[in-house]
Amino acid sequence: MLNWREIRHEVLRRDNRCCQVCGKEHSGQVHHVTPRSQGGTDELSNLMTLCGKCHMLISPVPEWLITKLWGIPSNEISAASQAVQTQVDKIINK
Ligand SMILES: [Zn+2]
Repeated sequence: MLNWREIRHEVLRRDNRCCQVCGKEHSGQVHHVTPRSQGGTDELSNLMTLCGKCHMLISPVPEWLITKLWGIPSNEISAASQAVQTQVDKIINK
């Protein structure tokens, strides 16, 4: 049984540390496609590498924080978030 640190390392290795949404290299965030709160597991099939920006866009964080960190105007956040989510769904359903 792998611990989270090992699982995370394995996901990053599998994805070559590239964000699976925008392709950014040296990305280090591991996203649960189905959130643990909704019964998602730590199986590799439920995990993908994302960059900090893409990950934050589909995480429950306040909009002002996204604007502050990534310079995305608040009126563009929901469209940007939708675009990331669509891409994640596409990857999972392939
Ligand atoms: Zn990205």
